[in-house]
Amino acid sequence: MRYPQFMEYPKTLLEAIQYFSDEQICIDAVAAMKWHDGKVTCPQCHAKEPYYLARQKRWKCRKCHKQFSVKVGTIFEDSPITLQKWLPAMWLLCNCKNGISSWEIHRALGVTQKTAWFMLQRIRLALQRDNTHKLGGKAGGPVEVDETFVGPNLRKMHRARRLKIQAGECGQTKAIVMGMLDRDLRQVRAKVIPNVKREVLQQEIIEEIENGSTVYTDGYPAYDRLGTVQEYVHETVNHVEEYVRGEVHTQGIENFWSLLKRGLKGTYVAVEPFHLDRYVTEQIFRYNNRATKDNPLQDSDRFMLALSQVSGKRLTYAELTGKVSQRPEVF
Ligand SMILES: [Zn+2]
Repeated sequence: MRYPQFMEYPKTLLEAIQYFSDEQICIDAVAAMKWHDGKVTCPQCHAKEPYYLARQKRWKCRKCHKQFSVKVGTIFEDSPITLQKWLPAMWLLCNCKNGISSWEIHRALGVTQKTAWFMLQRIRLALQRDNTHKLGGKAGGPVEVDETFVGPNLRKMHRARRLKIQAGECGQTKAIVMGMLDRDLRQVRAKVIPNVKREVLQQEIIEEIENGSTVYTDGYPAYDRLGTVQEYVHETVNHVEEYVRGEVHTQGIENFWSLLKRGLKGTYVAVEPFHLDRYVTEQIFRYNNRATKDNPLQDSDRFMLALSQVSGKRLTYAELTGKVSQRPEVF
């Protein structure tokens, strides 16, 4: 089996599309990320060294005789879309600063808009990372914490819908996103939260930020007495009188909000609150893996990172459209 060498990897979108126009190269690229030790493993019985059926581009297990493709056990499972389309779509989503819409994918790759939408949602699942450590603490610097409202722009909306919203017939139309930025690690975490009550905000802080860290927030009363809950050093900035008091500010996380909102407004015209978490995940991926002076990441690095996270995740159409209630299946 051939494995792609890192140096051969494409650097630009054009090179990526050319490179991944060969199905076998796509299969090799996914296989190299999926089986890190280079040993192809049967998903049924975990036996190694299956036969490769070059014509069908599938493996056949020597032990249980089942056949399997490289897509099994990844976000590509059961998809009739070829990897020649999946991988460029992934490249685009990882690297377009404001995201990419299903309409753009539809036009660029020649799939239907509905298929493109589903592909993007699955790719977003691959961009999601399980956090293994808390922010702040001894290793990290101060953590900025803030929350923001994300919702439809009434001015750009169809009149009938706008009137409904103004009449309060649509329930809660704005979703709330809470975010945290570890200034030294330059890493953001953010998620949709149900409300901005003290219990919710402070519970999130306890779960995500190491006890004893310095936490910067604005003067919102729900953050009061944070320093008494645990041993956080809590400093607030009063946005009515000042925006920055030395090191005490939340401008880093506010910068993240403007990136998130630019993507949501420009690229994704209407995002249902149900799907908002996935768009937040996508923006976090690009933000946390952006090029910096000490870490000059390239487009190909972001793509490889995303590709290394496609295994063990699956999202079905029914789950995506809310027809079943369970969370995305994680193997
Ligand atoms: Zn087997």
